[in-house]
Parts: sequence; structure tokens; C-alpha cells
Amino acid sequence: MNKRIYLDNAATTRMHEEVLQAMLPFMRDNYANPSAIYGFAGEAKKAVGTAREQAASLIGAKPTEIYFTAGGTESDNWAIRAVAEAYADKGRHIITSKIEHHAVLHTCEYLEKQGYEVTYLDVDAEGKVSPEALERAIRPDTILISLMAANNEIGTLQPLAEIGKIAREKKILFHTDAVQAYGHVPLDVEEMHIDLLSASGHKLNGPKGVGILYTRENLRLRPLLHGGAQERGRRAGTLNVPGIVGFGKAAALAAETMEERRKKETALRDHLIDRVLAEIPYTRLNGHREDRLSNNAHFCFRFIEGESLLILLDQRGICASSGSACTSGALDPSHVLLAIGLPHEIAHGSLRITLSEETTVEELDYVVEELKKIVERLRAMSPLYEDYVKSGGND
Ligand SMILES: *Cc1c(COP(=O)(O)O)cnc(C)c1O
Repeated sequence: MNKRIYLDNAATTRMHEEVLQAMLPFMRDNYANPSAIYGFAGEAKKAVGTAREQAASLIGAKPTEIYFTAGGTESDNWAIRAVAEAYADKGRHIITSKIEHHAVLHTCEYLEKQGYEVTYLDVDAEGKVSPEALERAIRPDTILISLMAANNEIGTLQPLAEIGKIAREKKILFHTDAVQAYGHVPLDVEEMHIDLLSASGHKLNGPKGVGILYTRENLRLRPLLHGGAQERGRRAGTLNVPGIVGFGKAAALAAETMEERRKKETALRDHLIDRVLAEIPYTRLNGHREDRLSNNAHFCFRFIEGESLLILLDQRGICASSGSACTSGALDPSHVLLAIGLPHEIAHGSLRITLSEETTVEELDYVVEELKKIVERLRAMSPLYEDYVKSGGND
């Protein structure tokens, strides 16, 4: 039996043992509703407060600026819709990019149906938004700029500080989907002038189904859910105490280990990228070579169908992805790869490998050896590849 090699950490991560241990008491003995008055609820209330501090501290925010949600998708939806509604008197124009997660893109498309106008900025060949293009897109009725911190497919990091500076100068609110970056890349909402930020527990070795929305103090924020007075009346519903405690613990651990983890992952990532590019012909790296998540490698192999590649890797115990978990299964190539200018036939042959701090060089070397064989085998079955080689391989 093959050992499992898990290299799909952009889709989700394994929960840390310490996170699980922090959560367990609140699923078993300490089940009190933190909103209750009696002493039994005290510990749950205190634990939620600690988690809020831990979540805030990772991005230089105040605990009172953190709202707990049911994950990244909810935070993205809430941030964009809330700003759109609350600031409609000022304008109805929103700026985002073509490579956002669907949680942002589909929310923007929904708002377009409600009469809002959305500008989807282009990105360059490496997946970066241009601050100059952003500046040009700003209009008197622009109320929100929503640009992701790090792309979930190709790993490219956006120039958040530059974007934030522009937003602040023009007095426009800046939201960032930081689901891939939170706990992985240093973020500071003050330095980067971020007004709203979304993050999700399960992308940083925390539990699934819990996230945060940070919103700058004094911002007009429409409630997401109406009901009880939880989360200062803005997101009603009994708090998910175990999830929130787990999120806080994951954030605290991420803060402690970030520097060392980034160094280790970067070295392993570069080893993988160098080997794949050197040893497998007709292969390209997608995303920016340096300004990318330390755990992300994303390739396109010509004359290969990404799905077949994933199935053959799976047979060898390797869990990887073609890009976004949300688009796999669909026949359309990824909107991110099309936005960086790849033609359909190349975009189809994509492979995303995302490491964790537990990934070893031995695992990656095994993956490269297997990849070489798989790519060769699949190309041997491709009539296009045969024609290409016959024609002398130049086009
Ligand atoms: C995973 C992800 C989301 C969605 O988060 P969930 O917690 O799974 O809802 C949103 N944006 C990005 C960039 C992501 O990677």
C-alpha cells in the first residue's frame, strides 16, 4: 500500500494536534452557551475572548474589529454585500480583479444584477494587478476595492501595501480576501491600510467552517444575520465555541511558526520547481517566481490533460490538484489561467502542488520521479505531441 503524500494544502490543511486539543473541552464538558450569565458559561466566554485577541493580533487589528463567521466564503460575501448596501448612497461602483476566488467573483456578479457596476481588473502574465491600472479604474462613485492577498491557484501575492495606499488616498474602502495569506504571509491592516479582511480556519491548520471578517472600527457594517445580539448584533446565532477556539489557537500557532515555516517551505518549493522545470520538457511555472506563497508550485505541462495527471498521481498515493477545488470537475479551464493569458490547451494541463510544514524533500523527490514517468506516458498517447515532435518541436 502506498503511503499518502498530501500536497493539496491550498484546498485544506490538516488540523494541528494542539488545535484539536484546545477545541475538545468545548465539545464535551464545557458546552455552556457563552452568552449565558451563570458561572458555568464563564470559561467559554473567556475562551472566545482569547480567540478574538489571537485572531486580531496576527494582522495588527483590535479584538473588537473581529467578527467570527462560518468561513472564508461567508466573510467574502458579507464584506462585499455589506459595503455595497451601506455605501450605496455614495456610489455603486466596485473594483476587483479577474483572478479572485469565486466567493468574491460570484458576489460581484450578484451585485451587478442588483444595479451595481463592477470593474474586473486584468492581471499581468504572472498574476499581478497593476497599481496604475487600479488608479485609472477609480471613479467618483467607486465605493469598494476588493483584491485578494494571495491567489489560491497560482500563489501570486498582490502588492497590498501599494493598493491600500491608493485606496486610502482616494478614500475608498479596501477589502482583501486573505484566506490563502492569513497565517502564511505577514499582514498588517494598519500598514497596508486594509479596511476589511477575510480569513478561514481550515487554510491554516485550524477547523473547517469557521472564519473571520475583520472590519475597521467605525465602518458602517450591515448585519449579516438578524436574530440575537451575538457579535455585537451583526452576526446573530449561538457562537461556534469549539470552532472559534480552534481558529484562535491556529492563528496563535501560525504567528509563532510563520518565519521558520516560510523559510523551510520556500526552500522545498524552490527545490521542487527547479527539478520539475529542469527534468520535464515543455513545462512552465505559473505565477510569480518570487512573490508567491511559500508553499505553492503551479505548473502547466503541454500535451497533457490535467485530470488524467491527477488520477495517475492519486494511484501513487499523491494528493494534488489542477488548481482550484471549486473548478475541478468542470470542463472549462481555470479563469485564473485564462486571465494570465494562457491558451485553453495549455491551461488544461495544469497541476498545483501545495506543501505543508510537514512536507519532506524525500516526498517531493518521489513526486518528481513519478511525475516524470506519468507525463511521459500521457504524452506517448497524445497525437498532438507526436505531431509536434515530428514537426521538429518548434512553434
Ligand atoms: C478557500 C478559499 C476561500 C473560501 O474559504 P472557505 O472557508 O472554504 O469558505 C475563499 N477565498 C480563497 C482565496 C480561498 O482560498
